[in-house]
Amino acid sequence: MIRCAWGLWLFGLLVSARALPPEAVSRISEAEKWRERVDAGVSTRRAVEPQPLDVEHYTLQITLFPEARRIAGRVTLRGRAMAAIESLQVDLLTALTVTRVLWEGAPVAFAHADDRVRVLMPLAPGQSFAVTIEYAGEPAILGRLPSGMFFSAHSGFPVVATLSEPNGAPAWWPCVDDPADKATADIEVTVPPGYVVASNGLLEEVRPHPDGWRTYVWRERYPIATYLISITATNFVEFSDVYQAQDGTTMPLLYYVYPEHLERARRAFPITREALRVFAEIFGEYPFLAEKYGMAEFPWDGAMEHQTMTSIGSSALTHVDTIVHEAAHQWWGNMVTLRTWHDIWLNEGFATYSEILFRERAYGADPGQLLRQRDDGLASGRLRGTVYAEEATDPFDDIPAIYTKGAWVLHMLRYLLGEERFFAALREYGRRFAYANASTEDFMRVCSEFYGDSLQWFFEQWVYAPMRPIYAFAWSVQPEGAGYRLRLRVQQQQTHLIARRDPALPPIYIMPVEFTLRYADGTSEVRRLWNRARDETFDLLLPRPPVSVTFDERGWILKEMRADFRER
Ligand SMILES: [Zn+2]
Repeated sequence: MIRCAWGLWLFGLLVSARALPPEAVSRISEAEKWRERVDAGVSTRRAVEPQPLDVEHYTLQITLFPEARRIAGRVTLRGRAMAAIESLQVDLLTALTVTRVLWEGAPVAFAHADDRVRVLMPLAPGQSFAVTIEYAGEPAILGRLPSGMFFSAHSGFPVVATLSEPNGAPAWWPCVDDPADKATADIEVTVPPGYVVASNGLLEEVRPHPDGWRTYVWRERYPIATYLISITATNFVEFSDVYQAQDGTTMPLLYYVYPEHLERARRAFPITREALRVFAEIFGEYPFLAEKYGMAEFPWDGAMEHQTMTSIGSSALTHVDTIVHEAAHQWWGNMVTLRTWHDIWLNEGFATYSEILFRERAYGADPGQLLRQRDDGLASGRLRGTVYAEEATDPFDDIPAIYTKGAWVLHMLRYLLGEERFFAALREYGRRFAYANASTEDFMRVCSEFYGDSLQWFFEQWVYAPMRPIYAFAWSVQPEGAGYRLRLRVQQQQTHLIARRDPALPPIYIMPVEFTLRYADGTSEVRRLWNRARDETFDLLLPRPPVSVTFDERGWILKEMRADFRER
């Protein structure tokens, strides 16, 4: 997902590593104010409490009453108990009223409190179940983003849309709202005359009713997480394109936009085909090739990667990075879904780095430069938070850390593993966890395999610890024997310590650092040395003296640079 309040601001930020121009400082403070304002008003639902259940299939049958801002729904969950359970618990906000619960087709007793429907039916391990919940009411909006079902309008015509990330699905439909319990889904939406419904998977039929209402029947046959199920309904106009896979298979690209924005979307959306092609090359083929990819306009300031049907806000329709970001989520987020909300950077850091990879492959841009443009260069700056989300009930509380610092983590892994092993690791990670879920530890294990050694130390300092290293660097050269002695001094000045599982490792940043040596004749060379101490000196014996030496000139490392050494 991309929230435009952040997205647009990120791209306005052009800073050097050392000093921020006054304009950027004011933009940061505006963004921080925005964050504080959101923090003050945020309401969240409690964390997902995993039940020993495996939901295998959802059937959503929902009727929309856009003018009244109400819905009436009937949702069937089919699945199995993984262990003995006393009662089945289904998430549904109490703002909606449950009228009836059917167990294998017969009405049963239930309780609806604390945003959960409890059905007192004991299940034995392995026992399958089919429970139907009938409900109606006015869906509530909740959380920071916010999420739930939105009733809005464009040019005088109502629009109904949903955005359920992170835990807004139970604001409009009953489900076991755990991102690690994926299922297939039938999504049947009945709307008044004049409405078109966009959703996940393939449109199987549009069923007309005698009164002019219609039921759109969408079926998602690939496993999908509850937060990725979405519907959007308004007087859409449609247009399409064709994606050709590497093996020649063709797949439709379906676009649903407001009539007044058709021309704008027709100009902007063809980049989607190019993004899918580039990502198929880098990550492996588009993961939902038997269905489609599409985008549907919705009333929200940003975009959301609903599986096979991204929702995109009117203000983001022509924003290339947003279109590309949501396309990348079809691999990272949708094909491989986070295991818990702590792992949100596996969605957002990946999609953010994918924007950079797209610009690199499609336009020849320098990825390091693009990343540095999204950094203020300060240890206590925007990216000071932890990449691993500490609060699972509110995973989007630190967007710069999850998105931008998460992208930096991938860039630094690319530096550490090298081009070939890094991209092979990404493809293997995608292959191994395809249509399932992965945790930060799962990703670490795949990277460690391709690195050839444990990367626990890397994840400890870049993913689980806040902040970044603060380096001071100096060099000097003196004649020695027939040649010269180059002395490099590196100091780490950050005050926070890295928590190490291995007590033999120092509680500071361990990284290889590139030193670029330049000579009087215009030639240069790069030496890569491992910095493993807080204050470290390297001596190199050289046949000729360099005229300049720079520290991490290509900007591989997320860092703050200081000019002066600190006495200890
Ligand atoms: Zn995203």
